[in-house]
Amino acid sequence: MPYNKEIQKRSDDKRKDCLIRKEQLRLQALKPESIKRRVIRDWKKRGVVTNNYDKLYDDYLITNTCQRCENIMEGKGQNKKCLYYCNEFLIFVCNSCNWRLNRINIIMNNKK
Ligand SMILES: [Zn+2]
Repeated sequence: MPYNKEIQKRSDDKRKDCLIRKEQLRLQALKPESIKRRVIRDWKKRGVVTNNYDKLYDDYLITNTCQRCENIMEGKGQNKKCLYYCNEFLIFVCNSCNWRLNRINIIMNNKK
């Protein structure tokens, strides 16, 4: 194979490998265990402390109604499922309630 064609082929192969790897990573990220790891990592980053993150995650999965307004929690937007956490107080709420609770929190903290 001429030199230029050889280089071209190598670069095409590299691009193909890269696309395959990207697709593998995309599929990996959609796996339930990957999602679980990501959610728990986010909770930890936000300072959520519990002695059993697995149990908390299981509760998170089975809780489908907001523990404050009792609306069904699903998808994104106002009804998105959220974990409200403040000083070890922890409930699963819809995005709207989460927003309200955080507002109340900010106001209460300002009054102190
Ligand atoms: Zn709610």
